[in-house]
Amino acid sequence: MKVIGIISNNEKQEALEISKAVYDYLKQRNIEVLLPNEDVMPERYSLKSVSQKEFSDKADAIISVGGDGTFLRASKYSFRNQTPVLGINAGHLGFLTEVDPENIEQAINDLLKGSYSIEKRMLLEGRLYKDGKLIRNTGLPDTALNEFTITRSTIEKVIKMEIVVNDISIKSFVADGIIIATPTGSTAYSLSAGGPVVEPKAETIIITPICPHTLFSRSIILGPDKVLEVRLNSRNEKDIFSVDGKTVALSRPSQYLLRVTRSKKQLNLISFNPNAFFKIFKEKFIERI
Ligand code: NAP
Repeated sequence: MKVIGIISNNEKQEALEISKAVYDYLKQRNIEVLLPNEDVMPERYSLKSVSQKEFSDKADAIISVGGDGTFLRASKYSFRNQTPVLGINAGHLGFLTEVDPENIEQAINDLLKGSYSIEKRMLLEGRLYKDGKLIRNTGLPDTALNEFTITRSTIEKVIKMEIVVNDISIKSFVADGIIIATPTGSTAYSLSAGGPVVEPKAETIIITPICPHTLFSRSIILGPDKVLEVRLNSRNEKDIFSVDGKTVALSRPSQYLLRVTRSKKQLNLISFNPNAFFKIFKEKFIERI
């Protein structure tokens, strides 16, 4: 491993300091370190940065320093070449950030020695169609590590949606929105909307309605080979489409259809502990209650 990219939560002092320490430690080991130039660091940390393309093409691994939100951002740089990503948590434990700040040097030594395993995380591809035509550039990534969502905006009315699987219409309902999540995303927004926790190594497409107006509001779990369509029948002027938390507005949403399939790519998560998910799950959801 010769080149490592760092993505940091630049709004958090602790993450900035850890990133600087990671940078210095890698430099001491003659590793070339890259930062993307759209990631603006405060003046006193300003380190050499490169274009997004150079970052994605040159990095042999990416280190994310922050929480799960930062890891989601780091993942966007990794999709192109399936570059493996390591998560260091800064502040509080995240589901995607296995390494604690006190174990950084050990983790980097293991990373450079190749003493780690790769956990493959399933990704989803989502394409939006308007009046039957593919929208080539929504302004958001086509690939999601957590989920795609469609929600009403706060000033608008509930949305009627039809779920179609492999061309078979299976359900229509009225709700505030819908979440189409990966197993990785099952512990994020989908969980808050009442969805199941799914072990991240599983390969499933999880459909979770947001506040459906019905007595039966279960999630639906699909196999990874299914083609899922969400057809919007919305009376609103505007609904919101989002990919891993990044949003755009859909104007006259009734004309839209979202098609979701499993991505051919995967997220390669660098892990030192095969049971990290269960450890983090217990710590975040059971012991902290
Ligand atoms: P944010 O609104 O700043 O943070 C959302 C929260 O979700 C953070 O606490 C984040 O953890 C956590 N999170 C993200 N991915 C996760 C995962 N795979 N498992 C468990 N928790 C996870 O937005 P953001 O940091 O940019 O993250 C975007 C994500 O927020 C979306 O993908 C969506 O899943 C989630 N979200 C959740 C809700 C909700 O629960 N009601 C509503 C909207 C969006 P960290 O604090 O460690 O970063």
